[in-house]
Amino acid sequence: MHEMTVAESLLTIISDEAAKNNAKPVGAKISCGTLNPINDEALSFAFEAISKDTPCEGMTLKIDHKPLQGLCKKCDSKFNIEFSSPKCLKCGSEDFKLMPDAPLLLEEIVFQTD
Ligand SMILES: [Zn+2]
Repeated sequence: MHEMTVAESLLTIISDEAAKNNAKPVGAKISCGTLNPINDEALSFAFEAISKDTPCEGMTLKIDHKPLQGLCKKCDSKFNIEFSSPKCLKCGSEDFKLMPDAPLLLEEIVFQTD
C-alpha cells in the first residue's frame, strides 16, 4: 500500500522534528501533486495505525492536492490544467508543455503550544 510507505516516512520526519523541538506534534500539512495517487483517508488511517503509542498519536493530517500545471508555448504563462478542457487560461492556446507534477512535501508541522 502506497499510503503506508508515505505514512512511515512522515512519522520518521515528524518524530525527529518533535524531538528537536521538544514538543508534541498535533497536526501536519502535506502537499502532493495531482499524479501522486494519495488517498487522504487511507493516509490518515495508515498514519493513525503506526503512530499509536508514539508522540505523534492523535495528529491530524491535512493533505493539499496541487493541480497539474502547464506552461504555454505561445505566451509563456503558467496555468493550472483543467482536465475537461486543457488550454492556456491567458491566451487560450492548446499548445503547452506539461510541468512536472508537484512532489510530495511535508509543508508544516503544528506543535502543541501550551
Ligand atoms: Zn498562452
